[in-house]
Amino acid sequence: MTTSASADIPAPPRVLLGHHLRQLKLPTILREYEKVAAEAAREGQDHVRYLLRLVELELIDRERRMVERRIRAARFPAVKSFDTFDFTAIPSLNKPLVLDLARCEYVVARDNIIALGNSGTGKTHVCLALGLAACQRGLSVAFTTAAGLVHQLMEARDEKRLLRLQAQLAAVKLLVVDELGYVPLSQTGAELLFEVFSQRHERGSTIVTSNLPFDEWTGVFGNQRLTGALLDRLTHHVHILEMNGESYRLKQSRARRRKQPQPTAEQTIDPDTGEISRT
Ligand code: ADP
Ligand code: MG
Repeated sequence: MTTSASADIPAPPRVLLGHHLRQLKLPTILREYEKVAAEAAREGQDHVRYLLRLVELELIDRERRMVERRIRAARFPAVKSFDTFDFTAIPSLNKPLVLDLARCEYVVARDNIIALGNSGTGKTHVCLALGLAACQRGLSVAFTTAAGLVHQLMEARDEKRLLRLQAQLAAVKLLVVDELGYVPLSQTGAELLFEVFSQRHERGSTIVTSNLPFDEWTGVFGNQRLTGALLDRLTHHVHILEMNGESYRLKQSRARRRKQPQPTAEQTIDPDTGEISRT
């Protein structure tokens, strides 16, 4: 496009301003400047306040766009936060510790988090919420399951792009590896996963969730020496979240079942079993 400065007929200032703001990537100022100018005129604000208001709006929008980008890049299976997490449902979980972790200082300190507990106790929910909190603070996050990560690593190795993937995994500020322990790993899988943890050691934070206590991790990695070396790195600077308790899912579906039976006029409901029978 020819800039209107050099064109025969000079473009009106609005056109030029629009062009420059687009080039400077200031979409919010472009969208808002007339509306804010009208407000400023109404309120008798000087030009400094007017400019300040516009720049603030651009900053707020830019931060929101950045958070959205981080969330998309993290590839969360769902976006969950602590707002919807009921801490009373899992008394074994140290709530003050979790709320402190949600401030993300552990990421800056490059500490790790390991959440251990049986199925359905909210481990995935908690690490999604921690991941979201990190995105909101402008930190890069990647979310994956142990099986998914091993699959990605094997595929990358076969396609001769393992080094690139390893570099990406090492660079992210927070890596969440969910569900370690559900699937036993092949020897290659275990070694590749070990390398990821090892490369991140003291360089970035890693969150691992597992349904297995540490003494059963050897069964997943199939190798005592490797498991020892891995635990050594992961637990060097670590916050452990104890999440053993009743499955939230089971409790919910039981509560639903209790509410569901609606006997008709010809039916009675057994108060102990909830069983419906015809009269
Ligand atoms: P886990 O990963 O430990 O198997 P999930 O985090 O997948 O458990 O939890 C199962 C389901 O129950 C999810 O939908 C989750 O959001 C919900 N859930 C679990 N614990 C809680 C809780 N304490 N408060 C609110 N929702 C919960
Ligand atoms: Mg889970």
